[in-house]
Amino acid sequence: MANDYYATLGVGRDATADEIKKAYRRLARELHPDVNPDPETQEKFKEITQAYEVLSDPQKREMYDLGADPFARGGAGAGGGFGGAGFPFSDIMDAFFGTATARGPRSRARRGRNATLRVELDLNETAFGTTRELTIDTAVLCETCHGDGTAPGSHPETCETCHGRGEVQQVQRSFLGQVMTARPCPTCGGFGSIIRHPCSECSGDGRVRTRRTVKVKIPAGVENGIHIQLAGEGEVGPGGGPPGDLFLEIVERPHPIFEREGDDLHCTVEIPMTAAALGTTVTVETLDGPEEVDIKPGTQSGQVITMYGRGVRHLNESGRGDLLIHINVETPTKLDEEQEELLRRLAKLRGEERPPGKFAPGHRSGVFSRLKDVFNQH
Ligand SMILES: [Zn+2]
Ligand SMILES: [Zn+2]
Repeated sequence: MANDYYATLGVGRDATADEIKKAYRRLARELHPDVNPDPETQEKFKEITQAYEVLSDPQKREMYDLGADPFARGGAGAGGGFGGAGFPFSDIMDAFFGTATARGPRSRARRGRNATLRVELDLNETAFGTTRELTIDTAVLCETCHGDGTAPGSHPETCETCHGRGEVQQVQRSFLGQVMTARPCPTCGGFGSIIRHPCSECSGDGRVRTRRTVKVKIPAGVENGIHIQLAGEGEVGPGGGPPGDLFLEIVERPHPIFEREGDDLHCTVEIPMTAAALGTTVTVETLDGPEEVDIKPGTQSGQVITMYGRGVRHLNESGRGDLLIHINVETPTKLDEEQEELLRRLAKLRGEERPPGKFAPGHRSGVFSRLKDVFNQH
């Protein structure tokens, strides 16, 4: 379909008349040519007005949902020259309604809607992939009528108003002169046939609502916000039309220890000052279980130890990100007398009783300059 009027107004396909009106008014206030005369805004205003013209009229909206778009294929609205507000869009539309779609009766079968499902996953699951059984509310083919919408043993009858053509023609006068218009037949809704005995199971819709379980494999390496498309797993369409797609929106729960950055993981490990000075081995939790990490003598606070290949698996590629362990050296507090005495002796031995406040090298890579870089980029 050429124009997605729902998207233009920013409303869902199931929006109420009131929601549509509100959405239009909000946008119209912003985009009205009196407020904003530049050509681009005027074009936008025309678009939302077209969308509103169609969606605010229950009959036109129904026709549009059935696939008829009065403004498609360079129809009336695209003619230009209607910059201002208040011109009789409705009349023009009525005059042209159907001309763009005068192609005989339309099929009752339409493609089903897409569906989106949020899937919450832990880091372990996104890192290595997982399989989930998901329960979805959806529409499936009606087994009683196999999508035809007719009661068993009955058939759609040819519409008497349009004799099966799906459209009725009439001559209308407009400021453009006489216009021969063909509009979808009001009796049969453009289908050319009428279902007099609808299937009782689906009320003639050709599909029934149900709850279905799908087993999906979620690949390793997906991250927050990613959409996985499962083709043909959405709702079956009206009249037994082909199903839409199912989209899984991945929501990754925050992990208590690891922070994810792409496929790398970051964590902070605290070690006492003495261990940082003397060196030690600490046991660190990783996605693959506990692992021993060597802390070299003289390790500084802020130092990063990289464990290669201990991060998240790359999506659709081999290999994994890294685990970056940020070391935080703890300064001891609550010293007892003996400890304080020892530290004072150490300070004296090292000539550090009154150390100069010397500037550390490498401050340019510190937090401050990183912040500056961020600002300079934008
Ligand atoms: Zn049925
Ligand atoms: Zn008809």
